[in-house]
Amino acid sequence: MSKEHTSIHDFDINLICEYFSNLERQGPGSPEITLRALSFIDNLSEKSRIADIGCGTGGQTRVLAQHSPGTITGIDLFPHFIELFNSKSRELNLQDKLKGLVGSMDSLTFQNEELDLIWSEGAIYNIGFERGLNEWRTFLKTGGYVAVSEASWFTEDRPAEIEEFWMDAYPEIDTIPNKLAQLQKAGYIPIASFILPEKCWTEHFYAPQVAAQEAFLKKHAGNATAEGFIANQRREMQLYNTYKAYYGYAFYIGKKI
Ligand code: SAH
Repeated sequence: MSKEHTSIHDFDINLICEYFSNLERQGPGSPEITLRALSFIDNLSEKSRIADIGCGTGGQTRVLAQHSPGTITGIDLFPHFIELFNSKSRELNLQDKLKGLVGSMDSLTFQNEELDLIWSEGAIYNIGFERGLNEWRTFLKTGGYVAVSEASWFTEDRPAEIEEFWMDAYPEIDTIPNKLAQLQKAGYIPIASFILPEKCWTEHFYAPQVAAQEAFLKKHAGNATAEGFIANQRREMQLYNTYKAYYGYAFYIGKKI
């Protein structure tokens, strides 16, 4: 495939990290949507063990912590995100409930059947939806839940430009019925799925980035990598505005059988 445009994976990881550190969220979502997904989970108690995989700086983890019993471990690959995660937990006096650890989603160190709930918003794509669901299942108790949000097609056919963008960025993007079939095949009862409303992208994800982009460009004036990265972010936002009828994020909630 020709690579006319770069993808986020091609940029300096430290720059990406710095850029996203200044934002409450590193992916599309909102507190309301986190709570809507949480409303399908009915097995939690004070003893529950929850993991938030690819937690970033923890915007959604703090919402979870404030609305569910039990303790939560946030895992992210980037130490700086975890530093912010832990300092924000302390600010909210949530440090006894919420612990951030540096780690990778492809080598988690939980015990088999240790967890009651595995949460992951906008992050499972890093390992792949099917692989993540299959591998993480080991750590869940029978009757435990998985709740993940994932890029999904809304229609059977899509315009070529957006199809090509996603085939380059994340070829595992698929329709909601296909994702649900994968969830079931991986050993979960498909409890629910729903599409994240547009404002999870516009208001909660892209709007805060507009100001962050200006500041970032000012700070890194003359740095071609930084400028290329911001151009890429802006292009992604434009693509979303043009093609949002065809794709977005959906939440998938499954229960381990
Ligand atoms: N859940 C957060 C962050 C989503 S962005 C939110 O919704 O705001 C995806 C996150 O996955 C980033 O924080 C990134 O650092 C993390 N990530 C990427 N690869 C990872 C890996 N192999 N293991 C753990 N986390 C990873």
